Amino acid sequence: MHIVVCAKQVPNTTQVRINPETNTLVREGVESIMNPFDENALEMALQLKERHPGTQVTVLTMGPPQAVDILKEAVGRGADEVMLLCDKAFAGSDTWATSYALSMAIGKLPKPDLVLFGKQAIDGDTAQVGPGVADWLGMPCITCACKIEIAGNRALVERAFEDGYEKLEVALPCALTVLKEANVPRMASLRGKMAAKKLQVAPTTAEMVGADPAKLGLSASPTRVMKIFSPPPKTGGVLWQGEEPAVMAQRLVDLLRERKLI
Ligand SMILES: Cc1cc2nc3c(=O)[nH]c(=O)nc-3n(C[C@H](O)[C@H](O)[C@H](O)COP(=O)(O)OP(=O)(O)OC[C@H]3O[C@@H](n4cnc5c(N)ncnc54)[C@H](O)[C@@H]3O)c2cc1C
Repeated sequence: MHIVVCAKQVPNTTQVRINPETNTLVREGVESIMNPFDENALEMALQLKERHPGTQVTVLTMGPPQAVDILKEAVGRGADEVMLLCDKAFAGSDTWATSYALSMAIGKLPKPDLVLFGKQAIDGDTAQVGPGVADWLGMPCITCACKIEIAGNRALVERAFEDGYEKLEVALPCALTVLKEANVPRMASLRGKMAAKKLQVAPTTAEMVGADPAKLGLSASPTRVMKIFSPPPKTGGVLWQGEEPAVMAQRLVDLLRERKLI
């Protein structure tokens, strides 16, 4: 079986700031990490590899040259192959153009049985790229997956929602977007770290995957970011204490009536 995991390098969002003049994310000096949901997608692939000997796991990222760091992390954890899709032609791509570029890259790899994504990227947050790539590849896509069993050429997939679970059976090849609840991602092993240290990754360009330049980058992107801003900080609530519960309850009811909320 061949599993492709798409992983994105993202800024560690606890540190992200927004430049109020340019309305863009301030990425300088911010630590970059593998998108946390993609760690779960990778872990799902590695667990399948353990259960199905002979399975190959390829990790694909599209990003700047420093995105190689997440590929090294993936090799440290047990990925077999990696691909760094890196070219100025991709700059400014929205989710549509990103999905196209990733699908073209996947088309150059050995035919995958499964293509795994995180549920969403913690910076862009659209959750569109997984279904977008699946559409370009003509594959079924199951979102919000938390469990998978493979039997022959079929997969039994469990999806999780706030109010329950859903089990679906799907023919391979298929794409899945993976939830945090799926597993606990492993750390890189010592052996893996040694392999990652030696890893040399040559960038794969748009031309190398046969991507049409008219479908890449900002000019080909149908989405336009109108504004990006931080939500105003929440003001503190009112705390009543030290009085009889009945008195405080009456005060709350009076306040809600005054504000016409009840
Ligand atoms: C007009 C426009 C211009 C933009 N310009 C830029 C820009 O210049 N620089 C920039 O960094 N971003 C830019 N973006 C953001 C960029 O489009 C998104 O970050 C990207 O398309 C992925 O969308 P997302 O982050 O919402 O991913 P989601 O759809 O939330 O991601 C879901 C999953 O898809 C996979 N995935 C997503 N992106 C990648 C990737 N690059 N490689 C591998 N797997 C991936 C991962 O598995 C991820 O968990 C721009 C967006 C727009 C709309």
